[in-house]
Amino acid sequence: MSKDEPPSCETCGQRLTIKHILTECLIYEQERLELNLTETLNYNPIELIWAQVKSEMAKKIDTFKMVDVERLTNEALDSVSKSDWEKCVEHAEKIQDEDYEKEILRDS
Ligand SMILES: [Zn+2]
Repeated sequence: MSKDEPPSCETCGQRLTIKHILTECLIYEQERLELNLTETLNYNPIELIWAQVKSEMAKKIDTFKMVDVERLTNEALDSVSKSDWEKCVEHAEKIQDEDYEKEILRDS
């Protein structure tokens, strides 16, 4: 099996991708709740947190074995600090404000 063809998730049978693990898989529901990562609004800071977690994982990942993916995911999620989260929220709010300004300009 090549590294380019991730197997199915052992938990739910979906295609096993990092996105699946981070945003879809029930096995990480608890982590997502603990980190407050369940919001689904536009301009969601979660996207920025995911980007951080994914790049953290991408640096380390060399396997799609579930046990390793799980360990890496937990490490990456643990490495998200409160201040990372706050920075991402600020950033999301800034983008939101900027888009709002653009919207006003376009409409006037
Ligand atoms: Zn799953």
